[in-house]
Amino acid sequence: ISSKLPYAGTTIFTVMSKLATDEEALNLSQGFPSFDCSPLLTERVNHYMKKGFNQYAPMSGIPPLRESLAEKTEKVYGISYDPETEVTITSGATEAIFCAVTAVVHPGDEVIIFEPAYDSYVPAIDLNGGTPVYITLAAPDFKINWEEVKTAISSKTKAIIVNTPHNPVGNIFTREDLDALAALIRDKEIFVISDEVYEHIVFDGEIHHSMMTHPVLRERSFVCGSFGKTYHTTGWKIGYCLAPKVLSEEFRRIHQYITFSTVTPMQYALADFLKIPSHYEELSRFYQDKRDKFNQAIQASRFKFTPSKGSFFQIVSYKEITDEYDYDLAVRLTKEIKVASIPVSVFYNDKIDDKLLRFCFAKDDEILERAGEILCRL
Ligand code: PMP
Ligand code: GLN
Repeated sequence: ISSKLPYAGTTIFTVMSKLATDEEALNLSQGFPSFDCSPLLTERVNHYMKKGFNQYAPMSGIPPLRESLAEKTEKVYGISYDPETEVTITSGATEAIFCAVTAVVHPGDEVIIFEPAYDSYVPAIDLNGGTPVYITLAAPDFKINWEEVKTAISSKTKAIIVNTPHNPVGNIFTREDLDALAALIRDKEIFVISDEVYEHIVFDGEIHHSMMTHPVLRERSFVCGSFGKTYHTTGWKIGYCLAPKVLSEEFRRIHQYITFSTVTPMQYALADFLKIPSHYEELSRFYQDKRDKFNQAIQASRFKFTPSKGSFFQIVSYKEITDEYDYDLAVRLTKEIKVASIPVSVFYNDKIDDKLLRFCFAKDDEILERAGEILCRL
């Protein structure tokens, strides 16, 4: 059949995790925790399943979860969203991003994205007949030059997709970045699709600047999040979108025909768990320890890196070790030394090979230490 995504093979996350399993390698490739979620959460799921909460949830999400999420958002960012009309629960942030793109992008519209970019953005734009306009961020600091963004905006620009904290490079937006973005779109009909799935994983005393905290951006943004990253439940695939009423209406119009609604008992469990702030309040410290453990373990290696500022990823340069193509190296290391990673070139349209690998440090300490020991032998 004639493919709508002719360039897309199987995603790198599927490829590398399968290879890691086949090769019995330490899997620092795909971004998911090697450890379990809180037993309290699974106990709550059991509770709700036994009580018969097993049928379709309301299309926009169960009211207690939308309410808990709105309360948490108000508490953390001081910004209020109406749980009735502005909060929608989705089947992962992936679905939220897809629905947001589908809600605003018409055939022929342009969407600005920054690369390296998470791999679901471009297919979402393409499937809606949009044109991705790439702004390439350069190693080592991957800072956005907002003058370049200004030049990239045209009369066809419909949306800008941003991601902070960033996968794969682990940097974060500053207040100035928000101001600069707001100044560029203030007088235009350009929407922001903001991927903030790592909102609670920010290091070294920095804070997460959500798009919602800027009044201009609050009105234009679809803020997409994921309970998978915050609660160590990536397999549940539950995310959300916070957006002003008019945007949420259009978002829901799409969401109701993509999945209609999201798994019920887990939503009830999360609604209860969101009321315990300590989990998300301690998450940055928890992952900072993991980042430090991993970075300490590779300190004596020939990899070069700047510590990640957020997310659960660390990118490292292997320029001093080999000049192999990053994809080939990631495959070879998985097979030969049994440590799996993600080649960063896959996050670029033109597969730019800056000799970088991405390691996920959402793993048990002994996995991080063992991986570090092995990587130091290279
Ligand atoms: N965006 C980014 C940047 C991610 O790293 C992920 C991770 N998996 C997602 C979106 C998708 O999140 P979810 O698993 O909730 O669909
Ligand atoms: N976001 C995860 C990562 O970057 C993977 C999610 C997926 O496998 N689609 O590794």
